[in-house]
Amino acid sequence: MENCIFCKIAKGDIPCSKVYEDEKILAFKDIEPQAPIHILIIPKHHIESLNSLSEEDADIVTYIFMKAKQLAKDLGVAESGYRIVNNCGEDGGQTVKHLHFHMLAGRNLQWPPG
Ligand code: 5GP
Repeated sequence: MENCIFCKIAKGDIPCSKVYEDEKILAFKDIEPQAPIHILIIPKHHIESLNSLSEEDADIVTYIFMKAKQLAKDLGVAESGYRIVNNCGEDGGQTVKHLHFHMLAGRNLQWPPG
């Protein structure tokens, strides 16, 4: 997707603070962190949102969650806890239309969010 900022970040055309990368996914620090640890985990190929996730792409979500679990361990927050969030659509608060999962940790997160 030509005008997608996360596709550009995935391709390395826009810099990011990279936390993890492999051939399928990229994890990088959110530019406006809402917690001491705030990482975005994205599939490298463009999927607009959870709504547009196809059966063929479905495995990437499991893959992302397995990597998120490992990341939490590597970052030392597996025991203290963390939150994985996906915002979908306008009312869900999605501002970037490339599927992504927020990982928030490092403070006591309140529930429900605003
Ligand atoms: P959403 O609101 O769509 O769930 O989350 C989008 C997130 O992407 C926001 O938390 C926002 O701060 C982050 N973001 C937007 N543009 C950039 C960028 O260019 N670089 C990084 N690292 N994060 C971004």
